[in-house]
Amino acid sequence: MRLAYLTIDDGPSGDFEHKVAFLRARDVPAVFFCVGAQLEERSAAVVQAIRSGFLIANHSYSHPYFSRLSLEEATREITATDAIIEQLYRSAGRDRPMKLFRFPYGDKGKRTRSLKRCLTAMGYSGLRIPKPRLPFPYARWLRLQDADSWWTFDVRDWCLAHRDHAYPIRSRNDVIDRLDHELTRARWRIGSNHVLLLHDHAETAPLFQDLIDHLLTYDIAFTLPQ
Ligand SMILES: [Zn+2]
Repeated sequence: MRLAYLTIDDGPSGDFEHKVAFLRARDVPAVFFCVGAQLEERSAAVVQAIRSGFLIANHSYSHPYFSRLSLEEATREITATDAIIEQLYRSAGRDRPMKLFRFPYGDKGKRTRSLKRCLTAMGYSGLRIPKPRLPFPYARWLRLQDADSWWTFDVRDWCLAHRDHAYPIRSRNDVIDRLDHELTRARWRIGSNHVLLLHDHAETAPLFQDLIDHLLTYDIAFTLPQ
């Protein structure tokens, strides 16, 4: 992996400011896909993050499964958080460089065409990494040119915050071991640029720092989408 976008979902949590300070100390830029309701709770910290150059993106208002929403509810989840982010950029005195949206749980729901139209009309575009060398089905997802953002590598840090899953990941070492295994085994994992998915969960704050330091041993150039 030569180039990576670090994307961090589900914040801002109570640990958000620590993460921002830690990433600044490591000189690692990141995109935070944030939940609208939490943005309202921690707006001052987010304004500071914007001024520090972090990109704040839309991860819905209440983090629902979109397949359980009506089109109207789904649209409201997107537009409400869009308005909050717009206001936060104004408060920070910065232009919003781009509009990115990621569906909670990667669940695009059943109204994909209507929501794509809605996102496009609002100025959203998908997050694309340059020169992905990814196998099917990742390549197919990237080629869809959807207006929402996907990822190419889920670090699965969330497995420690939510225990209800089938992955054999129960400890910090499980997450790191799986990361090493995946990044050294599969040729496409090594040979492609990536959109990395991590999370801003307060429960896994120490793990987050370990993971960033561990990823930096792989000589990855973290950058922001242009
Ligand atoms: Zn999420």
